[in-house]
This record gives sequence, structure tokens and C-alpha cells, in this order.
Amino acid sequence: MEPFRLIIYGKKVPTKQCFEVLNPATEKPAGLAPLAEASHLEDAIRAAKVAHRTWKDETERKRQTACRKIAERIEAHAEELAQLLTTEQGKPLGGLGSRWEIGGAIAWTQYTASLSMPMKVLQDNNEARVELYRKPIGVVGSITPWNFPVLIAIWHIIPAILAGNTVVIKPSPYTPLTTLRLVELMNEVLPRGVVNCIVGDDDLGPLMTGHQDIGKIVFTGSSATGKKIYANAAETMKRMTLELGGNDAGIVLPDVDPKQIAEGLFWGAFINGGQTCAALKRLYVHEDVYEDVSEELVKFARKMPVGPGTDESVLVGPVQNLRQFEIVSDLVSDAKPRGRVLLGGDVPNREGKKKGYFFPLTIIADLENGDRLVDEEQFGPVLPIIRYRDIEDAIEKANDNPNGLGGSVWSRDITEARRIASKMECGSVWINKHGMIQPNAPFGGVKQSGLGVEFGEEGLAEYTDIQVVFS
Ligand code: NAD
Repeated sequence: MEPFRLIIYGKKVPTKQCFEVLNPATEKPAGLAPLAEASHLEDAIRAAKVAHRTWKDETERKRQTACRKIAERIEAHAEELAQLLTTEQGKPLGGLGSRWEIGGAIAWTQYTASLSMPMKVLQDNNEARVELYRKPIGVVGSITPWNFPVLIAIWHIIPAILAGNTVVIKPSPYTPLTTLRLVELMNEVLPRGVVNCIVGDDDLGPLMTGHQDIGKIVFTGSSATGKKIYANAAETMKRMTLELGGNDAGIVLPDVDPKQIAEGLFWGAFINGGQTCAALKRLYVHEDVYEDVSEELVKFARKMPVGPGTDESVLVGPVQNLRQFEIVSDLVSDAKPRGRVLLGGDVPNREGKKKGYFFPLTIIADLENGDRLVDEEQFGPVLPIIRYRDIEDAIEKANDNPNGLGGSVWSRDITEARRIASKMECGSVWINKHGMIQPNAPFGGVKQSGLGVEFGEEGLAEYTDIQVVFS
């Protein structure tokens, strides 16, 4: 098996050691990834620093054109990237899987390439002319998770380079291969050193977040790691975007048609096998429709084909890695004695031969705040359902969580749904859907779900420092 290489200053760089990336559907190797040492990280940061000297002075138009060319390169290699993504990440090729993720990467790149940050005149009169400029920060360190490796890499890289920064990206060691290939394709159209990719274990992360030559960290991952990064970056006063964990609540009002909302609820919760930051992770349902909503949801879920992502008929794949499989297993085992299992719930026995990290789609009713499956982020194909009588009580329970990424309200009464939305403590609220992000709408978490936003003009601005010129 030919190993993948690091990408530093536009070159493929071999490493002394490599490691196997496992295919979660088979537990067999998906590929061999390079294992970077600290010296490789230094090389990558140096390359990004050198490239920044000229990249920052390019015109905005030139950088926009470069981003459009990246979209074209991805499009030309879309199927190859989708196949590689399914092999290392496990998600299905079809449905809301790898091809959809690559399509999203193209769309996000194209949209972001159309953004611009013109100088703003704040004052122009007899007393003074005051101009506000948005200037690139320098080298951006990007650290990504394993759930949407391509899309999240695009969310980090494209606004960073459009704003005139250069990038060192470190993907998750669980899913580094597609990112390496993506950065290789980017280097076909970018000047050397503008985007570099290093791969290694989790130890590389702190070296990046403490490095004096990295001006900003953009991190997507767990809240626990986000807090470590925040602390480690303080010494060098880095700019920071943190997109962390979520435990999104959905609130279903008594006026819904259970049959009509079942599909939306299902995909809100089980997109990417539930391994989605802004997935529906706790469902609060009014007692009048509680049994009917639960039944329709289970009916829809039962029809869902689960299996290896390479099977074109499959719509939900395995859990991505053993660590996450164990977190999900533990939460389900804890919840079963207290809840009513409506679907799945049998924790697979992993003794014996390797069968992939498949976990059955699981829906458990009659749980409450205080149960771990409700309070903690499961990040897997499992949904707890909680009964409520009083809407104000449901809102209070939905907000009673340190996370605040997304939320949803399900009702025919849009005015009432908006009123409830305004009371929810989260960065995005959807009405009669969940998790529908788009490139022109800022996305980010409140409370412990993160700092700052991505997407749109507000997201782009986070890759800049402000300079005001008075004359
Ligand atoms: P993780 O925090 O374990 O790892 C994420 C990345 O951080 C990996 O690249 C890892 O190597 C690196 N890392 C680990 N320790 C580090 C350290 N001390 N310093 C710097 N980097 C370090 O997260 P994960 O398990 O890969 O991803 C799942 C989590 O990500 C979930 O909690 C999910 O909600 C969250 N997530 C959030 C968003 C969002 O936009 N808010 C999107 C996707 C995933």
C-alpha cells in the first residue's frame, strides 16, 4: 500500500513513520497516513510564513479566482474524493453521505469566493477621514475532526486564504487521507506554501496552538479539546474560532402532524449516523402527540438501510471509530434501564471477529433531563425522547445544558414557533427542520459550544484584524 505524504510548500513530503487509517465498515486498512514529527510542523509553519509575504499583497480578485479554481479542481475529482471519504470515514456514498459532502465543499468554496471585504469609510468630513481596513492575520492553524473532514477543511481554509492568510491544516488522525488529497489538489492551483497539510497524532495539536508563528487557530471538535486549546493559545494571544460540541434540543408542539414531521426529525437526528455537531440530540415532545410522534419516527427509522457506505443502497453507515462506538454503547447501556426502548438498543457484542463499528439505530423514550443520554452529547445513531406538558418547562429543560449550538421548534403555528425560538439559548434555531446550514448564514455556538462564527461575511471577518487609518 503506497503511503500518503504530507503536503508542505507544494511538495509531497515522506515521513519516517506511517500509520494505518482504518475503514470503519471493515476495520481493515483504508490507507497509510504519514506520521509527522515536530520538525515537519516547523517546516509547514515556515512555508506558510514565507508564502504569506506575497499572498497577503495579492489583490482580492486574484484570491477569489484562486478559490474558484479550487472549486473546479474538487469538482473534477469529486467521485475520487467521495470514494476515499467513504473508505476512511464510513459514511455512505449516496444520500446525505460522501457525494453530498463533496458537493457541499464545492458549493461552499464557490459562494465564499464571491465574498469581499472592501475598505469602509467611517468618517469623511472637515475634521478627519477615517478608514477601516480588514487585514489578514498571518498563518492560520486549522484543526479538524473526523465527522465531515472535507467540508470542515473547506470551511476553515477557503475564508482564511481569501482574506489573505496562509494555512497549516491538521486533520483528525482518524480521517486524514481525504484532506491530504484535497490539499494536494489545492496546490495544483495555489502558490507554494499557501496551504500545507500535516498529519500526526493528537500531540501535534498543542504544538500548533502554542506556536508563536501561528496567528489564529480555527478548531472544530469536542468541547473538552476546545477548552485545552483556548488555554494553550492564551500565551501568544491567538485569534480564535472554536466550533465545539452540541447537544441540540428539538421541541415538538401539540399541533404537529406526526406523520408529516417524521422524516425531518429522523434526518435532523441521524444525519451522518448522528455524528454531526448540529444534529438533533434530545427531542422534547408534548404529551398530546408524544406516542404518535414517537411511533411515526420509529416507523420511518425502521425502513432505513444501514450498512457499509460503499453499498449504493445504504443511507446510514457505521460509527466512525472504536472510541466513539464505546461512548455511544456506554450511554445507551446507562439509559436502557430508565427509558423505554422503541428501536434498537442492543449494544453489539464486539468479541470475536471484526465486523465494523455498526451500532443499531436507537430511539429511547421516557427519559428525562438528568439522564446521561439526555445531558451528554451522544454523537452517534441514538435519540432520547422526553415528554413534556408545559411549553415553558420544555424551553427551560432545553436550555438547561452547557451547550448552545443549534435547536429546533416543530409546529404549524410559525408565530408561536418563532416566539419559542427567540427563547432558546443557541446559535441557530430551525423551524420544522433541523441542522440546515448554508454558506451565507453565520453559524456558531453560544455558551460552551464555541467562540465566533463561520460562513458569510461575519465568518470571513474572523480571519482578519481591523486596522483603522486616520488622516
Ligand atoms: P476531538 O476534539 O477529539 O478532535 C478534534 C481534533 O483536535 C483532531 O484533529 C485532534 O487530533 C485534535 N486534538 C486533540 N487533542 C488536541 C489538543 N490538546 N490540542 C489541539 N488539538 C487537539 O473531536 P472529534 O472527536 O474529532 O470530533 C467530535 C466532536 O466535534 C463532537 O463533540 C462534535 O460535536 C464536535 N464538532 C463540532 C462542530 C461544530 O461546528 N461546532 C462540527 C463538527 C464536530
